[in-house]
Amino acid sequence: MIKLAEGKTKIIEVEDKDSTIVTITSKDDLTAGDGARRLELPGKGAASNETTSSVFQLLNREGVPTHYLHWESLKRFSARRARQIPIEVVIRGQAEGSYLQRHPEVSKGIEFDEPVVEFYLKDDARHDPLMVWDTERRVWLLFDAHQPVSNGPIGELTDVLENVPTDPAAIEKMIAVARKVFIILRKAWAKKGCRLKDLKIEFGYDWEIGGLKVTDVIDNDSWRVESEKEELSKQRFRDMTWPLSEEDKTVILQLYRRVAKLARDFPVIDLD
Ligand code: C5P
Repeated sequence: MIKLAEGKTKIIEVEDKDSTIVTITSKDDLTAGDGARRLELPGKGAASNETTSSVFQLLNREGVPTHYLHWESLKRFSARRARQIPIEVVIRGQAEGSYLQRHPEVSKGIEFDEPVVEFYLKDDARHDPLMVWDTERRVWLLFDAHQPVSNGPIGELTDVLENVPTDPAAIEKMIAVARKVFIILRKAWAKKGCRLKDLKIEFGYDWEIGGLKVTDVIDNDSWRVESEKEELSKQRFRDMTWPLSEEDKTVILQLYRRVAKLARDFPVIDLD
């Protein structure tokens, strides 16, 4: 196997350099705060792989274009190879997390009439800024993701970045697909008695045939989701006191396993 990329929580590999199929392996690592907190939790990778496989199988059934092909083994699935778009697309059903820092006038938990779709540039040096498309000037404005947007932009994206769309139709397409993904998953979670608050997804272009697809992974690190009683996602880890006690570690692993089990039989969603 040839390693194409290794991130904090996954490894992407191909069998040979021209292969159009990749395998994605989930690691047992849990990280937060740009990697400042890092924890190895045996069993987490398998739970994440099961969740991501169930989520992508649901999206494929619903006709969303995704890179996902098959569950391969405990920690691994196969997918169509893609040219990644270096953007994190966040869809929010309600105001949580960094949204509150950018909009301090908004109360936590306020529900939006329509899901809000945001783009963040994956750029460590610029601290993953929020990107806002200026329709008149046809340029991406960059905002500090953790400061009020009323402070104004911190700059513009002047460098031409590979695969970052600057065509309004391509941007609209990503927004439309992102909304659809969120609506499907929110309904799937609602049928399990849980509320999907927000979600992060990524996109790419199929390596062989082009075409926009939802890529990467969608697992319990990618969203905020709450049962009637408690937060079930990685947010629980973010909110815990560091370093974690053995008891806290057990709680987190159990949450990841519970989420994987709930996602296992996500029903077919009626979008009407
Ligand atoms: O922190 P923020 O409110 O911007 O996060 C919005 C959503 O995106 C959350 O569900 C969070 O888990 C997810 N997210 C992510 N990866 C990041 C940043 C946020 O999955 N690097």
